[in-house]
Amino acid sequence: MKLTAKNKQHIDDMMNGEPEHTDEFSDGLGICAYFHCALCIAVGAPQDISAGWTLHGLQVWCNVHGVNILHVDFEGRQHPGITSRGK
Ligand SMILES: [Zn+2]
Repeated sequence: MKLTAKNKQHIDDMMNGEPEHTDEFSDGLGICAYFHCALCIAVGAPQDISAGWTLHGLQVWCNVHGVNILHVDFEGRQHPGITSRGK
């Protein structure tokens, strides 16, 4: 998947703590960039990724390489979330 300039800017803003909230927060598809394992891409392996809750927050894991892709520490804070399917 190739990121558009808008998606790159949105990710940069999120990582810098300045997310742009122009879209409604809903249970509709809002993904603007997918997680991937750089090691899998380097060897041409299909992505096999798990994502789930940890004691600290949220972690994305590569099942092929057994390595961390992302681990977000919520630092004990709670954030709004939606678990409904809307359909
Ligand atoms: Zn991998």
